[in-house]
Amino acid sequence: MPKSVDYFAVPEEDCIFCKIVAGELPSDRVDEDEHTIAFMDINPWTRGHALVISRNHSKNLYEVADEDLEHAVVAAKRLAIRMRDRLGAEGVNLLNCCEPAAWQTVFHLHIHVIPRWQDDPLKLPGMPQQPGEGELAEVAAELRG
Ligand code: AMP
Ligand code: ZN
Repeated sequence: MPKSVDYFAVPEEDCIFCKIVAGELPSDRVDEDEHTIAFMDINPWTRGHALVISRNHSKNLYEVADEDLEHAVVAAKRLAIRMRDRLGAEGVNLLNCCEPAAWQTVFHLHIHVIPRWQDDPLKLPGMPQQPGEGELAEVAAELRG
């Protein structure tokens, strides 16, 4: 039987964010605690765009331990407040990408913390749509419970 291959199941030893945690790859760290580290995104969307990662390896939102996720979200809040107070950010976006269909490119749980300004160049990636007749109730029924 041919084995199915999950091309996105990067082993921990090949994971670039695990290498950053271990200090084997360089990063511009801005925050760390027992459970998380935060560092500058190498290709920032705005000035100050950072990533919060869990020290523990997990592929993404589907697989992360609740406790690791909780620590990452709290670290993201801490960083958002620092961006407001030190960079003069007028707002912040938190972004998590889970699976390639949702733009995930690095398969180690991370939260983008993106400082925002009224006049920055970022645009909403999607347009709000008018739902079809009964569509909201129908999808709600699929998701409920
Ligand atoms: P995502 O597309 O949500 O998986 O985000 C991955 C992010 O990691 C991208 O925004 C990349 O710019 C960023 N990135 C990739 N490699 C590095 C690195 N070595 N140091 C800092 N950021 C990185
Ligand atoms: Zn990893």
